[in-house]
Formats: sequence, structure tokens, C-alpha cells
Amino acid sequence: MSAHDYDKIRSEIRSLVDEVIRPNAEKIDRDGIFPRENLDALAKAGWNGVLIPKEYGGLGLDHVAFAIAAEEIGRACASTGLVYVMHTGAAQTINLFGNRDQKERWLKPAREGLVGTYSTSEKASGGHWWFNFSEAARDGAEHYRLNAEKSFTTSAGQADYYLFQTRSPGAKGPTDISFFIVDSKLEGISHGGWEALGVRGNHSGPISYRDVKVHARDRLGEEGQGKDIVYHGVSPVYLIGLGSVWHGVARAALEKASEHLTGTHHRDFDKKLSDYQVLRQQLGESKVLVESLRPWQTELARRLDDLQATGQPQGQILIPLTEFKVHAAEVANISARNALDVSGGYGYKRGPLERIFRDARAGIGMGPSNNIAREWIGKTLVGLPLELFEAGGE
Ligand SMILES: Cc1cc2nc3c(=O)[nH]c(=O)nc-3n(C[C@H](O)[C@H](O)[C@H](O)COP(=O)(O)OP(=O)(O)OC[C@H]3O[C@@H](n4cnc5c(N)ncnc54)[C@H](O)[C@@H]3O)c2cc1C
Repeated sequence: MSAHDYDKIRSEIRSLVDEVIRPNAEKIDRDGIFPRENLDALAKAGWNGVLIPKEYGGLGLDHVAFAIAAEEIGRACASTGLVYVMHTGAAQTINLFGNRDQKERWLKPAREGLVGTYSTSEKASGGHWWFNFSEAARDGAEHYRLNAEKSFTTSAGQADYYLFQTRSPGAKGPTDISFFIVDSKLEGISHGGWEALGVRGNHSGPISYRDVKVHARDRLGEEGQGKDIVYHGVSPVYLIGLGSVWHGVARAALEKASEHLTGTHHRDFDKKLSDYQVLRQQLGESKVLVESLRPWQTELARRLDDLQATGQPQGQILIPLTEFKVHAAEVANISARNALDVSGGYGYKRGPLERIFRDARAGIGMGPSNNIAREWIGKTLVGLPLELFEAGGE
């Protein structure tokens, strides 16, 4: 696609965001409302299937387009942005690793508003979300039984299906992982609530799975293929999407702060806030950082498209994608902090700037947390193994 095509895509998603998503953002945050209305609008226009081929009801667009959509949604409402990224990620993982029957049943209905998400993290392994203690059990030749305490799942209690990660039956070690597409209406699933500092609409509550009976036709890929799916399915699309949402958040903070500076006037000395150099300096600091994100986002998204088009594993750019996620989350926090500083008491009061400040915080801890991610990056630089599953190995 050409630059002109991407401009068109941006202006299309931006119109939808301005019309539906932006006006809902404050209410979603204040009342902790799940952004159902926003998701329905995105589904109706096809954005919930942005990466899904047209034969399964999607738009058949690429990762550059997905990143643009995530950025524009995040720019208006981070809660909706995260829900959108988890959904798109779950759907794309099925697109890459699922069979025809699974794509018919789980991807096609996205157009009617079917929502998916990832259910991977467990309390017992914390931010090492790829490491599960839960283990699937066999139930006859055709079924599995799933038991797990998942600590955080975006869209918990709201999604129609959970892309569920666990150890394979009889697993010999933590790398023997399998994935299941779990219908959220199945018996034995219950979820907790979500009360948090920010992204209050994304409902990342805990989920308890008790003896949940899942048919073998909903196992994604083969038993034991989960490690592959983590590296080459879940992670790439999730990381580019997540970074793009934080990019949008960073941009929103800068825009709101600039508006406040030009729109606020001190009558005593007849000066606008924008007349103070110390405040302009802070905008300048944010701007330079924010502008570093878009070219990086586009370049990584293009690389994902190229890898997918040539049938190569996308996980080979895991570390660059992780670097982008870290930087985008940090820039969102710096931009939000500067915005709050330059807008004084008015910025501190309930409103878009303090919401963005609280929302941005989630980016630092979301998996891989920036601490864990910097460890991966540092280890890779000095030629050490990541030791994701056991000391000395991967
Ligand atoms: C808003 C939000 C949405 C989420 N959505 C989902 C979702 O959709 N699906 C899902 O499965 N999970 C989701 N998660 C979970 C997320 O990905 C992490 O697994 C979770 O936040 C880890 O929290 P914890 O308190 O268990 O971390 P802990 O691991 O206890 O981390 C505590 C501190 O230790 C640091 N730390 C931990 N391990 C290391 C290490 N090896 N090296 C250096 N520092 C380390 C961390 O950076 C952090 O500072 C979500 C979390 C949030 C906050």
C-alpha cells in the first residue's frame, strides 16, 4: 500500500474515533464502563477484523494499518485501545495458527461484534506471563478439562472467547504449552472485577477456570505448539499494537497540553501560558520524543508484514518490538507528566489530562513490564540467553 492509502486509512479511523470513541472516553473512565459501544462501532466498520482476510469477514489490511488504528484509538481512549489490541491480537493468532473450521467459527463473527482476548498471566508466575503452572487434563478422546487462576485478562467477563494458554496434559516442563480457544460462556468460568488507577474501562480482572470442558476442535495448533504460538503469534501483534496505543496516548497528552497553553491567559501581566519559555521547553521535550515513535512504529509494522508475506516467523523481531513497547510506554508517561506540569491546577483536576496520566502508568507494568523488557534487551546485547523458562536456556 502507498503512503496515500495509509493517509486515507488514518482519516477513516480518525472520523470514527472522533464520532464515537472520543465522546465516550470520560464516561468510560469515570464509571469504569467496558467500551462495548466503541467496539460495536469498530466491528460494524470492519476494524475488529483489520488483519483478518476478507474471506473470513475481515478488512484484509496489514500491520501498518493496524498500528495506525491502535494509535488513533489510543489517542482518544486508552481503555478502548487496549481492548482493541487484545482482541485484534487474539484474532490474528487464530488467523496465523488456526484451522479453517476455527476461522469460520471465531473470526467470521467478529463483524457482528464478537470479542476475543488473551488469557495468559497467572498469579504464581506474575509478569512472566509465558510461564504457566496450570495444566490441561484430558477428558476422553475428544475433550480437555482446563483449570487455572488467571491474574489479569483484559475484557474479563466481557469477551466472547479467551485465548487461553496453559501447559499441555502431562507436560514434562514449562515449555510444553498449548493454547485453547475458550468460549467465555462455558460452565466453570468466573471472573473478578476491575478497580484500578487507570485504563478503568478495560476490565483486566482475574478469571477462575474450574474444570472447564473444552472440545479438542478448539485447541489452537497442536499440543505442545504453544511456545511457537507465544513467540510467533501472540507476541508480535500484541507488542506492535500495545506500543501504538501508548504512542497515541503520548500524542494526546502533548496535544491537550499545547491547547491549554495557548488557551490560558494571565491577566495580571497579560501573558498566555504559552509565553513562558519554561513551559514551552517541556512541550518541546515531549514533542521530540513523541515524533520518534511514528517512524519506528511504521518500520516495525512493515517488517511484520514482510515476514508474514514471506512465511517467515514474526518472533524473530521480538526484541526490536519489545524496545518499541518500552519506549512508547516511557514516552507516554513523560508526555503525560509534562502535560500535567504545564497545565497547573486545572490539569490536576478531573479531566482528560489527569485521565491520560493515570492511563499511561499501565504501560510500564503491562507484560513484558519495562523492567523485564530491559533485561531481555540487555541480555541480548551481551549475548546471554533470555532464560524465559529455565536458567541457562530459553
Ligand atoms: C491494564 C493491564 C492489562 C492486562 N491485560 C492482560 C491480558 O489481557 N492478558 C494477560 O494474560 N495478562 C494481562 N495483564 C497482565 C500483565 O501482562 C502482567 O502479567 C501483570 O501485570 C504482572 O503483574 P504482577 O503484579 O503479577 O507482576 P510481578 O511479576 O509481581 O512484578 C512486580 C515487579 O517486579 C518486576 N519484575 C518481575 N519479574 C522481573 C524480572 N524477571 N526481572 C526484573 N524485574 C522483574 C516487574 O517489572 C514489577 O516492577 C494485564 C495487566 C494490566 C495492568
